[in-house]
Amino acid sequence: MSVEIVSTTPSESISKVDLLGLDYDALVVFFESIGEKSFRAKQVMKWIHQLGVSDFDLMTNISKPLREKLKQHAWIRSPKIVTEQLSDDGTIKWLIEVDQQNCIETVFIPEADRGTLCISSQVGCALDCSFCATAQQGFNRNLENWEIIAQMWVANKALGANPKAERKISNVVFMGMGEPLLNVTHVFPVAKLLMDDNAYGLSKRRVTISTAGVVPAIDKLKDEVDVSLAISLHAPNNALRDQLVPINKKYPLEVLMPALHRYVADGHAKKHITVEYVMLDQVNDEEEHAHQLVELLGNLICKVNLIPFNPFPNTPYLRSSNNRVHRFQRVLHEAGINCTIRKTRGDDIDAACGQLAGKVKDRTKRTLHRVNFESKVV
Ligand code: SAH
Repeated sequence: MSVEIVSTTPSESISKVDLLGLDYDALVVFFESIGEKSFRAKQVMKWIHQLGVSDFDLMTNISKPLREKLKQHAWIRSPKIVTEQLSDDGTIKWLIEVDQQNCIETVFIPEADRGTLCISSQVGCALDCSFCATAQQGFNRNLENWEIIAQMWVANKALGANPKAERKISNVVFMGMGEPLLNVTHVFPVAKLLMDDNAYGLSKRRVTISTAGVVPAIDKLKDEVDVSLAISLHAPNNALRDQLVPINKKYPLEVLMPALHRYVADGHAKKHITVEYVMLDQVNDEEEHAHQLVELLGNLICKVNLIPFNPFPNTPYLRSSNNRVHRFQRVLHEAGINCTIRKTRGDDIDAACGQLAGKVKDRTKRTLHRVNFESKVV
């Protein structure tokens, strides 16, 4: 199925301000800059984000002269959906065009008691985690504010939802393509927009930023935005984590773990951290690893989520058997740690964790490096 929501960048819009990605503070600055009162920020925000309107002429509680003035100084972009895929389990994946060479993926996961939108923060990813399909695509660039919030805007529109009247998307997780904490300039204002009552009004417990462990940005997040934090841990010791999540070489566990403790100590959002652990057969799923994990987590207030590995072409890894996953979970339970097993959703349309690959014009030439590397090994 292919749905086209709308249009491109009109050439006359180049010198105008695009209001789609502006959080409340930035909208106030904009209105003041054109000599208007700051309360307009709330009005326009509601039109854009709660009603999905991108045409000033439809904003009926704004006078005609002001609408004309807005048209002179601003515009509201309407992002374009390239494709929409529907999984047997109800999961929907959208491919959204962000520029002529790049597309990003956004996934909606409906459940009985919630609807989660999994959004991307970068075009590709620079981190090169060895078990992740996005890593294989290489990295192109950070997404801008409008490109990140566009995913929420587009998803609400495609689902026919009015975020105020009927909330189909109750949770947003930054678990799509990219590392959100390597793009804080654009991710933080978007997180604020998601929680703004005049926009999407999500509670801080329902907005989750997931990171592979960019330690300085975890502290920055703690100080600047109050949201839930998930850490992609995946290994209980440095030797293994260096292989699976290479950013560990820069911020090893003895640096990462204290940052997690600082985050919860500040009483943030859920007041606990979600620890993500992808289960790779005979790599990180031994009983010994579970014991090491218990030791590592110590008294950290957290919940562990075991993620079944989602395969993709050319991966050397296999999914752990149910027995191995349950054995691992048992060790954590016996140590009194809350540990759940994630249900894989949308894998028939490659929408599951780590399967998002979008369409990336790779500036790191990672595919090329891999080919060279592989030919050396052979
Ligand atoms: N860069 C961020 C967010 C993107 S990844 C981070 O690392 O947290 C979202 C989650 O999916 C992470 O926990 C990631 O490690 C996990 N993941 C990546 N590839 C996967 C795969 N093939 N199977 C299952 N989970 C995967």
